[in-house]
Amino acid sequence: MSLSTLKSIYQCKCPRCHQGDMFLRGKLLSSKFSVMNKCCAHCGQAFEPEPGYYFGAMFVSYAINTALFITAWLALSIVHPDYSLTLLLAILGITVLIFVPFIYRISRAIWISIFIKHSSEDFPDSPDRAVRK
Ligand SMILES: [Zn+2]
Repeated sequence: MSLSTLKSIYQCKCPRCHQGDMFLRGKLLSSKFSVMNKCCAHCGQAFEPEPGYYFGAMFVSYAINTALFITAWLALSIVHPDYSLTLLLAILGITVLIFVPFIYRISRAIWISIFIKHSSEDFPDSPDRAVRK
């Protein structure tokens, strides 16, 4: 996996061209954080190739949440070794709520990048270019 692919996953860009946005731009902290674009504005790649395509992204999300839980638990154990179970559950709950939009998007970006590989070809018929002409 190249650095450019990792960057496109982090920025939730199209897995094929690394240019178009998968999600509505600037909506990460709004209630529309989960709204995806239908296809890439640059190369035309469909972001939901078939119904139920992102079912597997739940497993990616599960792995990320587990890593987040362990990190929060270790941080709490270091900062406050005599923590109570209530405090731990409250911190885990708050942590999950804060990271929900980010984890939702990143798990879908990881999932689609597993199956759709980067193409360095120029996309002359891209919808993006048709608008610019
Ligand atoms: Zn694209």
